[in-house]
Amino acid sequence: MDFSLSDEQKMVQRTVREFVQNEIMPLEQQVLRNEREGRPGIAREEIRRLQLKAKEMGFWGINTPEEYGGANLGPIMTALITMELGRTFVPFSFGGSADNILYYCNEEQKKRYLIPLINGERRSCFALTEPGAGSDARNIRMPAVKDGDHWVLNGEKIFITNGNEADFAMVFAVTDKEKGADGGVTCFLVDRDMGWRSEYIHTMGEWGPASLIFENVRVPEENILGELGKGFALGMKWIGQGRWVIPARAVGAAERLLQMGIDYAKTRVTFGKPIAERQAIQWMIADSAVEIEATKWIVLRAAWMAEKGLDARHQSSMAKLHGAIMANQVVDRVLQIHGGMGYTKELPIERWYREARLWRIFEGTDEIQRRTIARNLLKGHVKVGELMG
Ligand SMILES: Cc1cc2nc3c(=O)[nH]c(=O)nc-3n(C[C@H](O)[C@H](O)[C@H](O)COP(=O)(O)OP(=O)(O)OC[C@H]3O[C@@H](n4cnc5c(N)ncnc54)[C@H](O)[C@@H]3O)c2cc1C
Repeated sequence: MDFSLSDEQKMVQRTVREFVQNEIMPLEQQVLRNEREGRPGIAREEIRRLQLKAKEMGFWGINTPEEYGGANLGPIMTALITMELGRTFVPFSFGGSADNILYYCNEEQKKRYLIPLINGERRSCFALTEPGAGSDARNIRMPAVKDGDHWVLNGEKIFITNGNEADFAMVFAVTDKEKGADGGVTCFLVDRDMGWRSEYIHTMGEWGPASLIFENVRVPEENILGELGKGFALGMKWIGQGRWVIPARAVGAAERLLQMGIDYAKTRVTFGKPIAERQAIQWMIADSAVEIEATKWIVLRAAWMAEKGLDARHQSSMAKLHGAIMANQVVDRVLQIHGGMGYTKELPIERWYREARLWRIFEGTDEIQRRTIARNLLKGHVKVGELMG
């Protein structure tokens, strides 16, 4: 068993860490200021400038196949890179990527959706959740009714990330009520100018998702992604990809936060001694380090399994569950170590505190991950103590 990284992996990790430190972290104060002034995030042009700078260094299309100009670095490298990007709360990601399910586009659709998305000319959103169906996504109800060579969509999607900014949506709708998720849900590529509108939802984080409203939106038959009735499986593929990416991001954030906690504990003096000398503080530091380390290895094993072409779903659920809880515990402890300062907007801790809370909810709540893990064990898909690899 060899836990060491290859020279190439170490080089990529170091390069991304330096890029994050030198190029992205300096924007943090700007992000905090923007949020206070009600303009969340940073300007799209600024992100674009950084993405193009990163492109010169080879960081473009991390998971995008070479034939589309990507670097196609694979799951392990993606996990390592995501951990590094997670060290800052600036909403930055490398350019040149597209939603994984858009590779199911036919040639014509690729020209209109996949390639412009990779090039950064268009923006997408993934619209599955409805007011009546979140965790229970199989229960979506939005009807798509055939009318000549079009499908007519009516209803509402809710909590859609990028729903305000996207110019097209991957919309999951019911084309056969009898069959439901097993053959009766279809994914449609729906341009905003086909008639849907979005409404901002205010949340405790800064990236407000949106409700998407469909009133007799007519979608041409040729805008079906993949096959009629095969949309639910595509939806699960899209969600599946995020399962170990979220905890990878959580590892980066938690490591940075823990370091902040350590640095502060060594300098903050109470009752004549640095608080770092108090056992109560040391235990918070120790527990955080152990939980981060555990998450890191669960994530890397999930990524390793994906890279080997093995079924990584069980491991990914464990990574998502453990990582999301870990990050919330670490940020809470680090806030506690900082006392009143941790609660202020002078420091980024309270911001991370709000962001990390989402990680326990979207792309499968804690409870849904537990449900998946328990089911796999109870049904014998995965056996306790099974030999690894
Ligand atoms: C900021 C944000 C961004 C999002 N982005 C997107 C997006 O881009 N696209 C998209 O389609 N969706 C998106 N979502 C939706 C997200 O995936 C759902 O909110 C999530 O799946 C939970 O669904 P729900 O909110 O309907 O909660 P519910 O499903 O109603 O669950 C409520 C509570 O009950 C628990 N629960 C549910 N079922 C069970 C069970 N069987 N056993 C035990 N406990 C259970 C849940 O864990 C939760 O605690 C986003 C949500 C947020 C908040």
